Amino acid sequence: MAKAHRLDCENQAADCRFIIQSENETEAIALAKRHMAEVHGQQLTDDELREQHLQIL
Ligand SMILES: [Zn+2]
Repeated sequence: MAKAHRLDCENQAADCRFIIQSENETEAIALAKRHMAEVHGQQLTDDELREQHLQIL
């Protein structure tokens, strides 16, 4: 079974229910980066997102 990369933004901001889930890590990171920038005004690097925000299911 393919691994899924998941970011559950509820972990970061209690009022945000945004969830990303993708089998493609590159895509998951790109979507997460855009969400963090547009919604939360946070400019995160790929490594920060991968290490601090993404879960592998
Ligand atoms: Zn969010």
